[in-house]
Amino acid sequence: MENCRVHETSGSTGERLLIARTPTEELRLFGLRLRSQILNVLRPWHRRFIIGASPRKLAAHKLGVFRTSGVDLSLSPKEMLDKAELHRPHIIKGPPGALELLLEEDPQRLTALSLEFILSGAEQLPGGLRDRLEECCACRVIDSYGAVECNLIAWECRHCGMYHTCDDSVIVEVLNGDRPALPGQEGDVIVTALHSYAMPFIRYRIGDRVRLPASSSSCSIPFGVIHKIQGRSVDYLRFPGNIAVSPYQIMDQLDAIPEVSRYHVLQDETHSVRVTFEAAGTHDPSIEHRVRDSLKQVLPADVFIESRRVDRIDSRSATKRRFVQSRITSAAA
Ligand SMILES: [Zn+2]
Repeated sequence: MENCRVHETSGSTGERLLIARTPTEELRLFGLRLRSQILNVLRPWHRRFIIGASPRKLAAHKLGVFRTSGVDLSLSPKEMLDKAELHRPHIIKGPPGALELLLEEDPQRLTALSLEFILSGAEQLPGGLRDRLEECCACRVIDSYGAVECNLIAWECRHCGMYHTCDDSVIVEVLNGDRPALPGQEGDVIVTALHSYAMPFIRYRIGDRVRLPASSSSCSIPFGVIHKIQGRSVDYLRFPGNIAVSPYQIMDQLDAIPEVSRYHVLQDETHSVRVTFEAAGTHDPSIEHRVRDSLKQVLPADVFIESRRVDRIDSRSATKRRFVQSRITSAAA
């Protein structure tokens, strides 16, 4: 056990969870992540620039293939761009929050990198951010879906647009209640990690919701498919009548209002939702109404929406640009 690498996560319940893996398990999972990139976009001559992880040093790197460099998330966006320009990557890989910081720091410098692909992972990718990155860099953004407990779960396929499950490292079940979800239905993700012997996860409810495709896949890549990652079930807003609204529906609505630069959405009562937002560079007095009206489109009709513009969001979670949280459990709703 002393050789194990220990990872930390907030787990499916929001409680702190430590996860241990042996070096062999780590290496195997690294290989599977690399394979998913090769099946999708990665070619041996591509230089990758990885934000938030120190790249492994492989024998192949000495031969000049699969070259990588990395930067720590503690660097400023300007320092990250400085390092990226030195490395001249074909591909940048990072969590959406960090990619967004680069985009806002200096879009022209990001454009000038002439990237071939952007790989996003570790957090969920809001649709609005994907569009902005693709427009700025004139290249595809390709997402992956994983969890600390079992590493890579699925990756977005550039050919079919679905997420392929990493079937030889994790068994992914999608349950609607206690039964397997049907095609087109949404459900809870249950994982069984096939390479985690130091700390097994067997039929473990990861806390995420996904939607299955309505029809079977015709993709040439022979792995299972998930249609869409809906978000962590703990972050769903819950209302009476067993109605659950995905945090990504909320984000899509608010991201469509260009003046809104940062927001927190909080549900602390069954029939009311509070939105606090920053809107730099506009004096439009109607913006609070527009924010409320945009959320009315995705929330039940009888929900009271409080919309408040502030100069600066001040809370423990202020480092997050988008924050959607419910304090209502499914039982209370
Ligand atoms: Zn595919």
